[in-house]
Formats: sequence, structure tokens, C-alpha cells
Amino acid sequence: MTHPDREISKNVTVQQNVGLKPYNTLGIDAVANSFIEVTDQDTLGKLYKEGFFSDQKFPIILGGGSNVLLKGDPKSPVLKISIPGIRVTDESDHFVRIEAGAGVNWHELVTWAVERNFGGIENLALIPGTTGAAPIQNIGAYGVELSDTFESLRAFLPESGEFNTFYYTDCEFGYRDSIFKRELKGKAIITGIVLKLRKSPHRINDSYYALKNHFNEAGVSRPVIRDVYDAVVSIRRSKLPDPSVLGNAGSFFKNPVVDKSFFETLEKRYPEMPSFPAGDGLIKIPAGWLIEQAGWKGKRIGNVGTYRNQALVIVNHGDATGEEIFGHAIRIQKSVQQKFDIELVPEVNILE
Ligand SMILES: Cc1cc2nc3c(=O)[nH]c(=O)nc-3n(C[C@H](O)[C@H](O)[C@H](O)COP(=O)(O)OP(=O)(O)OC[C@H]3O[C@@H](n4cnc5c(N)ncnc54)[C@H](O)[C@@H]3O)c2cc1C
Repeated sequence: MTHPDREISKNVTVQQNVGLKPYNTLGIDAVANSFIEVTDQDTLGKLYKEGFFSDQKFPIILGGGSNVLLKGDPKSPVLKISIPGIRVTDESDHFVRIEAGAGVNWHELVTWAVERNFGGIENLALIPGTTGAAPIQNIGAYGVELSDTFESLRAFLPESGEFNTFYYTDCEFGYRDSIFKRELKGKAIITGIVLKLRKSPHRINDSYYALKNHFNEAGVSRPVIRDVYDAVVSIRRSKLPDPSVLGNAGSFFKNPVVDKSFFETLEKRYPEMPSFPAGDGLIKIPAGWLIEQAGWKGKRIGNVGTYRNQALVIVNHGDATGEEIFGHAIRIQKSVQQKFDIELVPEVNILE
């Protein structure tokens, strides 16, 4: 049955039967029964007063949809967070604090910072999605994570109808992880974040091998933050599929972290296996390498495949459903488990 759209208050409308294809980078054609776009934080309070969260059936929160797999049509209402705005809240000679609305496009925030010579997030250029989702998995790339510059975030808690501020330690950041992926999963709607960036002197992080190679080849011996930004943009464009051309959600799985003794046993069988120290007697193994060794790189089954240049990226070749993509991920998971006795954990959030 089709229900008419319902106006909650000025500028807030619950839309019925909204196609989600434009709202997720995997390009899954799921349909939301109810869909609300939130452009200011007061709306969340209004929704609470309307009883929107009262039956404890919390909505699905969507930012840019670049880290989600919609397995089917969502059973819960979908709240798309589009709160705008970037501002400097205070500054000193060396540092600047900036506050950004959860709906600000992350790459636009990075560009805004680099244009003002504010350093610290240039290595995270071109990561798709919104600023509000960045703390959820503590986004990271090229040797830098969000947590390196993070100060606090503000979130609406639909259980109590209140706003709360979460500081660095409250967020329990880890590798592609935070409290918002665990205990507070679905229980905190992030409305804005505060970062502390450097005005000068900048700390250039070019330790990542791809960046080092890039600067060596370009003959850049003392890169500035704009050089790092340009290099990251250029490397990412050459390596990763553009979701507007080929649907994908970036790395589908996290890189597994195993203990040293298990790693050493495995290394005897696969001496060429790449690895990185992960602290505390732990070793990180690139999931892309494991998937490639299991024979999945570039492989296509029907509408779903694994990207030809990077086995860690699952791609939608056409009109794949969420179930088809999920099935592909399970097949990959099983074959890596069989070959290496390692369980791959999805980095992508599976939404049902
Ligand atoms: C081509 C490509 C490359 C990528 N490269 C990287 C990379 O290098 N490093 C990296 O870390 N990630 C990478 N990603 C993953 C993705 O870009 C990030 O995880 C990003 O932060 C997701 O933002 P989003 O707004 O699209 O979140 P969504 O996909 O919309 O949501 C992700 C999760 O966060 C929740 N969520 C979203 N917004 C909010 C909010 N305001 N409050 C509470 N919960 C919320 C959702 O419910 C969901 O569980 C890549 C993705 C793609 C497609």
C-alpha cells in the first residue's frame, strides 16, 4: 500500500517508498518504506517528540552510503544525515579547532582544510562519505587515521532524546573501529565533529610506501601538505574504482590481525605473504592478498565481482541485489577460511 508523504514540521517530511540506489555507492536498488533527510539537529528532537523513536525500533542511519551493504529493503525507516556547515571555533599560533556538520562531504572538508593550510587530514583525501560517519570506523588511509586529529563529537541519543558530547577516550577508537560500531551501534546519531588541526609547523606523514615512491619518482624531497593531498588524490584515482562508474564500497573486509605464532606457522607455507607489525605481538595481513591468493581477484559471478586491480573491493557490475553481493562476500570469506584458516571480518556495515 502506498502512503502519502507526511510533513513532521517545516522542512521535515517523511517520504514513502524511496529508491535508495542514489544513496549507496554499491548501487543497490533497495526501497525504503520511510525516508527522512535531516538537515539540522533540531529535527532529531522534533522526531523524538513525535514519538518517532519510541518503539525502540531505531532507524537506519545513512551518511553518504559508501560503507554500507543494503541486504534487502530496510525494515526500519531510513534517516539520511545531511547537516551542513564548517567553522573555526578557536585558534592559536600553531593550532586550529574546526567544527563540521555530520552531513559535510569528507573530501570537501579535507580540501577546505588544505586550502587554508590546516594540516593533519591531508592523507585522508578522497575517502568517500560524510564527516559524521568518519568516526564510526575511525577512517584511515596512507598512515593516518581520523583519531589522530579528533577532539570530540556531538550525537543525539534516540533512547533518551538527549544530545551528548563524546571526547576522544569515550569513542574507544581502534583499527576501523570505535564504540559506535559496538556498544553504541545504532544508538548514537552523530550530528557534528570537532577536529584539532595544525597551522604550523606541519607534521608531514609520508611514511606510507606508496607516498614515498610517489615523491621519489616526482623528485619531491620535502613535501608540504598540499603535495601530500595531491599525491593521495592521484594514487587513489589510479587504484580504486570510482563508485559512480562501478558500484563498490571500498575495502569490503578488514585486514585480519593475527598473533605472531600463528603468523609464523602460516609464513612457512607462504613465505611471500606480506605483513605489518600491529603491536603487542600481533601481525596484520593484507586481506586483499589473501583474497587474491584464494583466486578471487577480478573474478565475476553474474552481476557481482571482485575488482581487477584490488581483490579487497567487491564490485556491482550491473543490477546486483544486496543478497547477491552478500552471497559473494560469504563465498570469499569461506574460501579464505579454508585456505588460510583466517576469518575475514567485513569492514562494510551490513544493513537489513
Ligand atoms: C571507493 C571507496 C574507497 C574507500 N576508501 C576508504 C579508506 O581509504 N579508508 C576508510 O577508512 N574507508 C574507506 N571507504 C569507506 C567509507 O568511505 C568510509 O567508511 C566513510 O566514512 C563512510 O561514510 P558514509 O557517510 O558514506 O557512511 P555510510 O556508508 O552512510 O554509513 C556507514 C556506517 O555509519 C553509520 N552512520 C553514517 N552516518 C552516521 C551518523 N551521522 N551518525 C551515526 N551513524 C552514522 C551508518 O549507519 C553505517 O553503519 C571507502 C569507500 C569507497 C566506496
